[in-house]
Amino acid sequence: MGLQDSLSEDDLRKLNESSNNKSSLIKKEKCIMSRKIFIFDTTLRDGEQSPGASMNSEEKLEIARQLKKLNVDVIEAGFPISSQEDFESVSSIAQEIKGPIICALSRAIPADIERAGEALKYAEKPMIHTFIGTSDIHIKGQLRKTREQVLEMAVNAVKLAKSLCQEVEFSAMDASRTDPVYLYEVIQSAIESGATVINIPDTVGYAIPEQFGQLISDIFKNVPDANKVRISVHCHDDLGLATANAISAIKAGATQVECAINGMGERAGNTSLEEVVMTIKTRGDYLDAYTDIKTQEIINTSRLVSRLSGFLVPPNKPIVGSNAFAHSSGIHQDGVLKERSTFEIMMPQDIGLSESEIVLTARSGRHALRHRLSELGYEIKDDQLNKVYERFLAVADKKKQVYDEDLSAIVQDELQLSPQTYSLEYMQVIGGTPTPVAVIGLKKGDEVFREVACGDGPLDAVCKAIDKITGVKVELISYSLNAATKGKDAMGEAIMRIATNGDKIITGRGASTDIIEASTKAYVNAINRMLSLA
Ligand code: MN
Repeated sequence: MGLQDSLSEDDLRKLNESSNNKSSLIKKEKCIMSRKIFIFDTTLRDGEQSPGASMNSEEKLEIARQLKKLNVDVIEAGFPISSQEDFESVSSIAQEIKGPIICALSRAIPADIERAGEALKYAEKPMIHTFIGTSDIHIKGQLRKTREQVLEMAVNAVKLAKSLCQEVEFSAMDASRTDPVYLYEVIQSAIESGATVINIPDTVGYAIPEQFGQLISDIFKNVPDANKVRISVHCHDDLGLATANAISAIKAGATQVECAINGMGERAGNTSLEEVVMTIKTRGDYLDAYTDIKTQEIINTSRLVSRLSGFLVPPNKPIVGSNAFAHSSGIHQDGVLKERSTFEIMMPQDIGLSESEIVLTARSGRHALRHRLSELGYEIKDDQLNKVYERFLAVADKKKQVYDEDLSAIVQDELQLSPQTYSLEYMQVIGGTPTPVAVIGLKKGDEVFREVACGDGPLDAVCKAIDKITGVKVELISYSLNAATKGKDAMGEAIMRIATNGDKIITGRGASTDIIEASTKAYVNAINRMLSLA
């Protein structure tokens, strides 16, 4: 740490801020003092595989634009062979988003790799990511092959990908449960065949940090060409160890982490981007590492992904949870007021949380509304502003004071990126015993359709009336209702997950100061999303 000792506090501050600074001098110093860790975001691929998180192309493009602002190094945009929609989504991201590497996933099968190459045709910096299971459990249990056959498939896949694209990432799926000696052989062969990134996935979330770090060290010791490529890790959070495993791998020499916003992903999810990035920023001294992430964009990215995927962020989630910077015990509050660093290792501003306590009222104008929304990460187009402003005034009339959370709920409700086949025109619900009844009017095109239905409860009656209109048969998987803010007049935010027979799970959201209306909107929203994804 000799270099750090010789720098003044001001220099150190500049160094810490230099991820946003283009000064070549500072960049140079940074290279001397630490390693850059590449941030590979897989929110749009592994993250979208979370049941209920399906997003359409327009929503994925919106997230890709925000990931560019966040300054990730790689965007894994999708798995083109998996569906026509995924292909088109990767293709549109590859065409529009310049700056980050755009990556597409493929199994170690020629058709997959060619499809990935096609989707990336217009990318500025394309990368094909190909993978195959290398553990005996996967080789025998899933692939029904031998180790020799799998090695050959890996080599052929990398060679084919390399013929289409300069940057090729190879993943040895289930690496943490693979015989290490065989793993070294597969990695060396993939590098010799042209791979530029080798990814070591803990596919099933089985690794323990110390052991996973050791595996990375052993790869550097036993794979002759390991130093010629980026060694990457991809950890899952089944045991809550994804971030710890990724950090341990960085300490052992890995220079790329695959992660997802809000930790989204298969089962318990992937390594959270925000956790790993803020760990590197906060403990770069110990890890001898930095990233190029613009951390001030973290909270906006987290909110956008939550809004478009329909996945709420738990209040106690590290970094981005609503309580992550809230000190509640008297001793902690006292300490933080006297000297922040007593109990705070990060500043809320580091992730883009502003401290302003602006509360809008019915007297606030369009300009103030737009300004506050942009601070919250919502870029509102002119034609959308009127719609959002009208809704804001209606809420402000009922609630008097409109908080940030209310604004988020309004924007999420009004700005739908999926085509809205149906919109709620009117509703009348009578609750109580013996039989709740709902009258619903839904607009489709220029026509308004009205239906009446009885149900076991008011919401059941609402859903049945809507089903009669749409004729779509859906199953309600889950339903939740949250108050967006404090107080009895708070906006209610409803989230509904629905599924058609054996099909994808779709999430819908709705907000209103009336909880039955919020729930009705969520149900209509889910049906619209389902129709647009079909
Ligand atoms: Mn995964």
